[in-house]
Order: sequence, then C-alpha cells, then structure tokens
Amino acid sequence: MAYVVTENCIGCKYTDCVSVCPVDCFREGPNMLVIDPDECIDCGVCEPSCPANAIMADIQPGSAQWQAPNREYAALWPRIVAAKDPLPTADALNGKARKFNEHFLPQPAQPSARPEQV
Ligand code: SF4
Ligand code: SF4
Repeated sequence: MAYVVTENCIGCKYTDCVSVCPVDCFREGPNMLVIDPDECIDCGVCEPSCPANAIMADIQPGSAQWQAPNREYAALWPRIVAAKDPLPTADALNGKARKFNEHFLPQPAQPSARPEQV
C-alpha cells in the first residue's frame, strides 16, 4: 500500500506535503507532484497536510485511477525535498473539474521553473 496524489494537486503545488514526508518520496512535475509508490512507507502524515485534499491512500475509493500516473511520473520527474511557494494559480484552480485533461503538464520540472500557464 502507498499513498497517491490525485487530480486536485494539478496547478497548485502548495508543497505542504513535501515538508512532512519522512522519506522524501515526492516527485515534482511542472504543475503537479506525485508519490513514488516504491518509496512511500504508508505513514499517512501527508494526507491531512494537503490543503487541496489531493492525497489519499491507494485503498480508498477514487484512488485507483491515480496509481498508474503516480508510478509512471515518479519514474520520470525529479525528487523534491523542500517546500516551495505555490503556483500563482493555486487558489484559482483549487477544486476545478477536469484539471488532468485541461491543465496537466507531463514533462519533467526544471529545478526553479514555473510554467507560464497551467
Ligand atoms: S500539498 Fe497537496 S496540492 Fe500541494 S503539492 Fe502536495 S499533494 Fe499537491
Ligand atoms: S504516506 Fe508518508 S511516506 Fe508516503 S508520501 Fe505520505 S508522508 Fe511520504
């Protein structure tokens, strides 16, 4: 079992989750984070830390469709170990529907890059 990051993370990057993860298993895309399921120790401390309610255990209803993207992009994106400022669109996109189809950016994040638009 592992925890997964889900759709409402897209466009936010609040990164509160990164601050509390004891094993640094979050990976950073341009406008979303994912969890490496092979490194997650299932401690659960990140779930209540997420202001977007975007983290859930992979046994919870609604998590199944996010397991593959978390595994896929964890292998492609760089590790993030420190919190950073949220994206400018974080509050505006919080809770929006269809974020994956309309805003998801799959390429690896650059170390200090911010997308021009999400
Ligand atoms: S705190 Fe939640 S919304 Fe923010 S980066 Fe982490 S998982 Fe994504
Ligand atoms: S459940 Fe624990 S180990 Fe897994 S991502 Fe969250 S804080 Fe990190």
